[in-house]
Amino acid sequence: MIENPIPWANGARCAVAFTFEMDAESLLHLNLRETAPTRVALSSMLRHGPEIAVPRILALFARCGLKQTFFVPGWCIETYPDMVEQILRGGHEIGHHGYLHVTAEGRWTPRSDRIPYYVKPLFENFGV
Ligand SMILES: [Zn+2]
Repeated sequence: MIENPIPWANGARCAVAFTFEMDAESLLHLNLRETAPTRVALSSMLRHGPEIAVPRILALFARCGLKQTFFVPGWCIETYPDMVEQILRGGHEIGHHGYLHVTAEGRWTPRSDRIPYYVKPLFENFGV
C-alpha cells in the first residue's frame, strides 16, 4: 500500500498510460541489413503491426474514447503513411523513435546532430 498516494482527478484510484512502439519490419533493416529484402516470411509477420494490429487498436481506442502515444520510427512513417494518418486522425500522439528504432537501454544512441533527419518524415509528410 502506498503511504502517500497521488490524488488523481475525479476520484480515480490510479492512472494508466498505454504506449506503443510500432517498428514493423524496420527491425529487419536495423539488425539484418544485407538480407532484410529476402526475409519475406519474417517481413510479412512484422507488417502485421501497421497493416492489421494498429487499425484494430485504433478502433478499440475510439470505442473507449482513449487517446494514446505511438512511438514510430521515421522509416515506418515513410513506409506506412496511411497508418500514421489513421493514428493522427484518431487524435493520438506520435512519439519520436529515431529513424530505425531507439532502444530504451541505449543500445543505439541517436546523434543529436542527426535528429532533424530522424524526424524529417514526420515534418515532411504530416507537418508534425
Ligand atoms: Zn522500436
